[in-house]
Amino acid sequence: MRTRLSVCIRKRRFASAEEAIAAGQRTGLTLLPYRCDRCRQFHLTSRTRGKRLPRGGAMR
Ligand SMILES: [Zn+2]
Repeated sequence: MRTRLSVCIRKRRFASAEEAIAAGQRTGLTLLPYRCDRCRQFHLTSRTRGKRLPRGGAMR
């Protein structure tokens, strides 16, 4: 996924997918981590449509 620089700048960054997932779970929302091709770290997105959920996802 291409990430816009403006999006990258204002989003939180995580060093690993695990960290991103843990932070996402704390919000109580369904957030998916993705690797940003701008900063090479992870951000969270609430967009779950059209994306494959990680194993154990609720949408099976
Ligand atoms: Zn980024």
